[in-house]
Formats: sequence, structure tokens, C-alpha cells
Amino acid sequence: MAKRIKCECGYVVDGNSDEELVANAREHIVSKHPDMAGVSDETILAMAEEA
Ligand SMILES: [Zn+2]
Repeated sequence: MAKRIKCECGYVVDGNSDEELVANAREHIVSKHPDMAGVSDETILAMAEEA
């Protein structure tokens, strides 16, 4: 099931599965929001919506 996260910076993270979404979100967080790098998978998925 595809999901997406709209980041507060305007960037949209897409994923075809929870695992892919979390991986893509972490990549974005590390490069753009390193202060949020400690966020849990559960928190990332809680921000996601159905794509
Ligand atoms: Zn962002």
C-alpha cells in the first residue's frame, strides 16, 4: 500500500511500502533535518497518509 509524507519543509516523501517510506523519509531527514535524526519508525509512519 503506497503512502506519502508531506514534510514541513514542503518535500514529499513517497513509498510503496512502510519499509520503503521509512527508508526514504530517513534519507530526507538525515540530509535536510539532522536534528530530527533520532525519530522512531513509529513516528515517521504516524506522519504518513495514504497516497
Ligand atoms: Zn523536510
